[in-house]
Amino acid sequence: MTTNKDTPRLEIDLSKLAHNVRQIVDIFGAKGATVFGVTKGICGDPKIASVYLDNGITVLADSRLDNLAKLRASGITAPLLLLRFPSLKEAKSTVDLADISLQTEIPTMKELAKHAQQKNIKHKVILMVELGDLREGLMPEELDSVVEQVLPLEGLELAGIGANMACLGGIIQDDRNMTELSHLAENIENKFGIALDYVSVGNSVVYSWFKDTKDVKRVNNVRLGESILLGGRDLPEQKIPGLNLDVFTLVAEVIEAKVKPSIPWGEVFVDAFGNIPKFQDKGLIPRAICNVGRQDVSVQDLAPRKDVDIIGASSDHLIMDAKNSGLRVGDEVEFDMYYGALLSIMTSPYVKKYYMNDPFQSRDAG
Ligand SMILES: *Cc1c(COP(=O)(O)O)cnc(C)c1O
Repeated sequence: MTTNKDTPRLEIDLSKLAHNVRQIVDIFGAKGATVFGVTKGICGDPKIASVYLDNGITVLADSRLDNLAKLRASGITAPLLLLRFPSLKEAKSTVDLADISLQTEIPTMKELAKHAQQKNIKHKVILMVELGDLREGLMPEELDSVVEQVLPLEGLELAGIGANMACLGGIIQDDRNMTELSHLAENIENKFGIALDYVSVGNSVVYSWFKDTKDVKRVNNVRLGESILLGGRDLPEQKIPGLNLDVFTLVAEVIEAKVKPSIPWGEVFVDAFGNIPKFQDKGLIPRAICNVGRQDVSVQDLAPRKDVDIIGASSDHLIMDAKNSGLRVGDEVEFDMYYGALLSIMTSPYVKKYYMNDPFQSRDAG
């Protein structure tokens, strides 16, 4: 394959992405749930966000205010949700940039309420509940008392409750914890005589519970990023049938290809990162170096599309056992990626981003 595009580069196929968005919206919509489209994995990229919005997603969610600001500055007018709790200092920008945010702390919500009142607007909050994953959330027994304190805060509107799973503790959604969340929502509605717009769960692992359960109960919203972008979660059984797994392609170029031994020789010291590396002796092997390294990507989260093995990487070099691939200098190598690789590539200024099958461009042209 020859092309004059720079390497390393990230190719983003917007038409494959659009397909994933439509599928996800349909799959979750079939059981009555709307989708918040999470953009943190792609740093709030406005082009990708626009594909979300053009294909059935109505609310965008990101963990960083900088990314929300980027989305707004690009002219996107859809409601925006802040996923990570803002610091107290960020309360004003949160009200300025986000229409909805996830919350647990009364002091933070008081700050938000104050700024929202000054602007004469209502900022929506979704109260997060801890269901066992132990990243963020109110303990279920605190929920009532927090609701009681939030409802009188002018400037805020209690839009729902939510929970986050599979982020720290590795705990997944199941009928037991999702039933608990539904009961908590019903209790609040009955006790305080209010209706909650959202009973919201995340993240992408929610798919396996969602497709298998007979009754999603009160769960009516999912917050998804990875499954839209990469077609599912890292585990093969979490891949969602019918979705494209290759929306993103990292392309690097071979800058050296030589037959060399498979184990280093000389006195053992340390590698570039202070570790003593271990190698398997396979005799002489064809070794290929690609022009991408740890400054660009979290190498352990890459999977080459060719039958070659990654041996290791330093800051700027990726070394592979080229096996029978016949790789030569100037050849391009394509890689699939797990979420960690996508995150690191998106934040590396050294990897150029190219949009493929851009519907907006052809629209402009036509
Ligand atoms: C990141 C995040 C999500 C989405 O996670 P994905 O794995 O990308 O689907 C959902 N909810 C919260 C609170 C998050 O921080």
